[in-house]
Amino acid sequence: MHNPEAPQTAQDFARNIAAVQDRIAAAAERAGRDASAVRLLPVSKTVPEERLRRAVEAGCRELGENKVQEATRKHHEMADLDVAWSIIGHLQTNKARDVAAYASEFQALDSLRVAEALDRRLQAAGRSLDVFVQVNTSAEEQKYGLAPEELPAFLTALPQYSSLRVRGLMTLAVFSADTERVRGCFSLLRTLRDQHFEAGELSMGMSGDFETAIEEGSTVVRVGQAIFGARATPDSQYWPGAAG
Ligand SMILES: *Cc1c(COP(=O)(O)O)cnc(C)c1O
Repeated sequence: MHNPEAPQTAQDFARNIAAVQDRIAAAAERAGRDASAVRLLPVSKTVPEERLRRAVEAGCRELGENKVQEATRKHHEMADLDVAWSIIGHLQTNKARDVAAYASEFQALDSLRVAEALDRRLQAAGRSLDVFVQVNTSAEEQKYGLAPEELPAFLTALPQYSSLRVRGLMTLAVFSADTERVRGCFSLLRTLRDQHFEAGELSMGMSGDFETAIEEGSTVVRVGQAIFGARATPDSQYWPGAAG
């Protein structure tokens, strides 16, 4: 689907990124936080190589992708550029080798089987990987992520996988126009971090809800459409149960 609003040039991307940064700064200020404590991870799923090259020109040095296959293809297509790839979607163990080979970060860790598969591949490659543990804070059955009560035992088991550097927790809030329900997901993740993971990062907030997430303590926001334009692909392709 051709979207005439979609940014194309490096200037378009620079403008959108600056606008998102301004909104991050305003949300941080409202919350009495320092905006430099919030990292903006641009999410580039469905965006083709040519436009991504312009975004990199505009200053994107890291890109988030939900699906490993798409990330791997882009990593190869753009191997001449200095881009760090963050995998932010559910991973199957049979794709662990790809992630271990080039990703700089994996934000959707939710099983010890995946931790084990990644660690084995990383050890073989002599690499390590930053990981975030995904928590299902909305209690929606179809969402990926650990149930909150599973988190303590999971965190206790992770140090055996020594090539994984466990950085923090990640969540997707409920998809709802009710800001207070969305806020509840974010504040639950922060509470879990405070209880079980001293000084851990909080990856939470997307185009539709990153300001609320920052007010609740987010340290990483994963923003796609506010930078790259609306996606034609329905979100149900990326996480089960989403609208569309
Ligand atoms: C696509 C995606 C995002 C970004 O969503 P936007 O609505 O494009 O900002 C954030 N997190 C995950 C896990 C995603 O798959």
